[in-house]
Amino acid sequence: MKVTKYQGNLQLTATPASYIYINPDIPETASMTSGFILRANQNPILKIQYQKDKDAGVEKERNKFTLIDLLSQKPGCYGGAQFTCKASLVRIDDSRGWFYKACNQCRKKLQRRGYTTFACEDHGAIAKPNNLYYLITAYMADETAEAKIVFFDATAAMLIQTDFNTMTNQLGFSDSSALPAPLSEVIGQTKIFQFHYTRFCKSSAIEFAADAVFEETISTTQTSAQPLKK
Ligand SMILES: [Zn+2]
Repeated sequence: MKVTKYQGNLQLTATPASYIYINPDIPETASMTSGFILRANQNPILKIQYQKDKDAGVEKERNKFTLIDLLSQKPGCYGGAQFTCKASLVRIDDSRGWFYKACNQCRKKLQRRGYTTFACEDHGAIAKPNNLYYLITAYMADETAEAKIVFFDATAAMLIQTDFNTMTNQLGFSDSSALPAPLSEVIGQTKIFQFHYTRFCKSSAIEFAADAVFEETISTTQTSAQPLKK
């Protein structure tokens, strides 16, 4: 039987004299079925615990997988799922800096329009953008693979254990093109990262967005595993 595509759907073409047997009881079916099962088992769907836990010790073990497990999944199957992984950052992509100018109304990234003007895609030109937030693109690695992960404001502060204001106003780091020392120091440290698949990423180009950063061992006095309050 001929397999073709019609208006985006798979289509079988048969003649009026064709008979169709579904799952017939013959050896060929058995070998084909086991082939499909084998293929599915190489990449079984991950069992996900969607419920967050208040206890950081439990939370940092929730949906803990290796990177290779997560990179071989279909991101579209895991909407709303958060994962954890013990990994370390291997490098930070500093080509676009480590913070961004945000719209004062929606916090979307402002795009440069001309030499001095910035604009939000929803709110138009912003005269003097002064809302700055961390935006750090990095690569993490465990013993199985390497993956891209993006840290937005609060999770970046958890990673560096320094909020943006302290970093820029007190420590004086304000050059977007040079990684500040407290950020460079994080490279190579093993952490437990919690993250989700970014919204529109494809199986061929998987990216994660960080939700939290935990230390490997959580002592009772340590507070850095809790999200920082704004
Ligand atoms: Zn806006």
